[in-house]
Amino acid sequence: MRISVIGCGYLGAVHAACMAELGHDVVGLDVDEDKIAKLAAGVAPFHEPGFDAVLKRGVESGRLGFTTDPAAIADAEIHFIAVGTPQLSGRLGADMSYVAQAVRTIIEHAEPGTERPVLVAGKSTVPVGTAQLISDEFDGSGKNLVLAWNPEFLREGYAVKDTLHPDRIVYGLPDDVAKGEAAREVLNQCYATMLEAETPLVVANYPTAELVKVAANSFLATKISFINAMADLCDATGGDVTRLAEAIGYDDRIGPKFLQAGIGFGGGCLPKDIRAFMARAGELGVDEALTFLREVDTINLRRRDHAVRLAEEVVGGSLSGKKIAVLGITFKPDTDDLRDSPALDIASKLWAAGADLAIVDPAAGDKLRERRPDLRVPETLEEAVTDADAVMILTQWRDFVDLDPTSIRDLVAAPNIIDGRNVLDPKRWSDAGWNYYGMGRGVSI
Ligand code: NAD
Repeated sequence: MRISVIGCGYLGAVHAACMAELGHDVVGLDVDEDKIAKLAAGVAPFHEPGFDAVLKRGVESGRLGFTTDPAAIADAEIHFIAVGTPQLSGRLGADMSYVAQAVRTIIEHAEPGTERPVLVAGKSTVPVGTAQLISDEFDGSGKNLVLAWNPEFLREGYAVKDTLHPDRIVYGLPDDVAKGEAAREVLNQCYATMLEAETPLVVANYPTAELVKVAANSFLATKISFINAMADLCDATGGDVTRLAEAIGYDDRIGPKFLQAGIGFGGGCLPKDIRAFMARAGELGVDEALTFLREVDTINLRRRDHAVRLAEEVVGGSLSGKKIAVLGITFKPDTDDLRDSPALDIASKLWAAGADLAIVDPAAGDKLRERRPDLRVPETLEEAVTDADAVMILTQWRDFVDLDPTSIRDLVAAPNIIDGRNVLDPKRWSDAGWNYYGMGRGVSI
């Protein structure tokens, strides 16, 4: 099929490359010239495991191209909308201006759809009600454009695998039966490989499909804040939240995943999605339904202050002039994404409190140097930890999880290790002469 993907960020670029991998002819459109130049040359503009290979293969095959020229999307049979929907500055709601612009681009440049309707598939995460508004706009456009909402569930760090082998596919279809059938047929053709592999398919109306995405993210955020609340109780009582999580996780109604207590969630999705969901509930007059999400957000943000307080306590009460080595700055491992990263937020707070910071990250070092020239980002972990009064693991990169405690013991000024992700073995580190501080592992501050 001929496909266009509008918006080539973490979601769109991977989607475009994976669609080419499935055999489709794909053009990716973005307004960011630097990003497009790299993608068109087959070079990944961000760190995502496995992406370089599919991108290169797609570009070399001639089935995958990237452009800033909107006219290039004209002959696509499906246009995927994958632009950003970030949080509005100073407000909870989502900034929908990029989606609005993408819709205008499609109306202006898509073929009229005289033979058969042209499908537009929304992948961006949007406030419930958006799809109907876009569909109405298409109806008044003079072109035969049919909209489906097809939310995306990929996880950064696993984006290629999640796109090629999703655990489910959701189609949000228009109420009009003929249009709905037309949309379903085109999507089935696009995702034929996955449907043949018996990937579960959920077909619903627009609002359900839009809600599925934010409901899933709200549930995940709630699970993390729940275990972080338990971490506070463990700290107050001498309990160990990792044992607690293990024990409750054996109950298959609860499950072990997303029960890692630590410095909380971040990234370009969870925080802004739960906030936009609350804002939308308010507009719909049902804000009471989601007041629990306010608490989820508050618990989450409190983790960051907790980590700063813990560091302060560990180095003797004041961070001023204390050397802190921060290991990991991205919001999770296997990405270079710094959007709403708890690690970066904590580092910024430590810095503001006068700490002498040295930060290392396996993927985001250059990006951090560019964005925050005020922060010190040495090339090596050894440089970062030299003379440190405390070492903090804030992102659970494999390199840090596997770190040998004896290998850096003699470099630091004081052997204090703060495990912001509860990924280290406290005994191993204690046996190597370190003072170990976890999150909710029985250390009250
Ligand atoms: P991103 O910021 O990495 O990418 C968005 C891209 O859209 C940018 O490259 C930007 O230049 C481009 N863009 C903006 N306006 C444009 C326009 N008018 N025409 C063409 N391109 C335009 O964001 P992302 O992480 O890829 O997220 C995109 C959407 O997908 C969001 O709604 C997000 O919530 C959702 N989502 C993201 C993920 C994820 O893991 N990143 C997962 C599921 C859903």
